[in-house]
Amino acid sequence: IEKVPEDVLGICRRLRDNGKRGWIVGGCVRDLLRGEPAKDWDVATDARPEEVMRMFRKVIPTGLQHGTVTVLLRGVHYEVTTLRGEGAYSDGRRPDSVEFVDDISADLARRDFTVNAIALDPVDGHLIDPFGGKRDLDARVVRAVGEPRERFGEDGLRILRAARFSATLEFTIDPDTERAMGEPRSLVTFRRVSAERVRDEWLKSMRARKPSVAFEAMRRTGVLEITCPELLEGVGCVQNKWHAFDVWGHVMACLDASEPMPLLRVAALLHDVAKPRTRAFSEKTEDYTFYDHEKIGAEMATEILGRLRFSNEERDRIAALVRHHLICYDEGWTDGAVRRWIRRVTPDLAPDLYALALSDVRGKGRDVTDEVQAIERLRVRATSLLAAGAALGTKDLKIRGNELMRELGIPPGPVVGEILAALVELVTDDPAENERDRLLAASLRLYDERRKSE
Ligand code: ATP
Ligand code: MG
Repeated sequence: IEKVPEDVLGICRRLRDNGKRGWIVGGCVRDLLRGEPAKDWDVATDARPEEVMRMFRKVIPTGLQHGTVTVLLRGVHYEVTTLRGEGAYSDGRRPDSVEFVDDISADLARRDFTVNAIALDPVDGHLIDPFGGKRDLDARVVRAVGEPRERFGEDGLRILRAARFSATLEFTIDPDTERAMGEPRSLVTFRRVSAERVRDEWLKSMRARKPSVAFEAMRRTGVLEITCPELLEGVGCVQNKWHAFDVWGHVMACLDASEPMPLLRVAALLHDVAKPRTRAFSEKTEDYTFYDHEKIGAEMATEILGRLRFSNEERDRIAALVRHHLICYDEGWTDGAVRRWIRRVTPDLAPDLYALALSDVRGKGRDVTDEVQAIERLRVRATSLLAAGAALGTKDLKIRGNELMRELGIPPGPVVGEILAALVELVTDDPAENERDRLLAASLRLYDERRKSE
């Protein structure tokens, strides 16, 4: 309770001074009791929104119809929400009507999980915990408030929230609750959850130490089948002898091994999405091989992320990561080959590619010291080549197209482009060639060869 910020305490005191009450509720109470820092402080009150508006100087009527007023203190936003009861849910997403109530217990009853349904009055330190939230916090259990089947039948998003909380809090889902998540009626309700909400829950799940916990729960209950059936093709998809896991198991291991950056983790989730479709059994090696799964995977990732309403920028970046994720085989690469690789993947993408490749090999479930070293070697080489100014395109050449046309006496046309492209290849293999005179000499040679061959 000492950890409740002075301003939050101030809000609750001010409500009391005006004959009303204020409790902190939801995620902040949960996090406070777990000894974790709270993200944002939500206050519940029996005062009506208009009354709250009158009690504080700087207020924003954020969502009056839902009873929410934002109070601004020293630049920080605090949401103060009037106690609400149960409304009927006909759309599977939000109650049809908001009914204000005076009883804090009624407000807690409409909340999703017991650990999210505890209220604390920071003025007198009184805890209101009608559903055993404290007990479940101690036992590390996610349990629906009330009758689980009804709760998931009201609001399909709760299935994803349960999956997410089990991963981020590292709690188990109570068996009755989990069973209800997979009930046909819950899944029917789930289908009405918007793609944007699914995307947000995916991204929030990626902040867990082990995001696989959330995705395994989504798989077990059937919601992954609805949002991303492609991923389930990896279940039972046997790989070659270098892998200890099937594709699904490998992807889950990669997720947990990857750095905690949400978009990178989405790339880890999708990096092998095409493997099951591109698998072929080889009689000779008695093993499975995967043809072009990066290219098809990038196409599938684009489709999936578009469907889940990721921004075009995020979608394209993740698809590019999937497209280029196999990078750990630099044995025998010349500097030119490394420079071409940088050019292909773009310098901007390279750091995320090393990170993705590392999680990929770490997710193989065996000793991968060699691969890890190979990736590190490529990273070091590519970084130093880049720092040395590896020429990557025509714009980096020490000669311009118009100079070339003037010196060679040729008109604008495709030939100029061809020569420039050849010069780029030349300096990619040997940057010392990137001098005006040398480039000019080389273009004369190229132009002559071209004329002779015509
Ligand atoms: P975090 O902010 O860490 O994601 P949170 O528990 O604070 O977790 P919010 O989405 O901020 O989650 O919601 C605040 C509170 O509102 C929750 O703790 C819960 O009591 C209630 N709540 C949120 N979404 C739902 C829902 N879909 N059904 C029922 N109650 C909900
Ligand atoms: Mg919150």
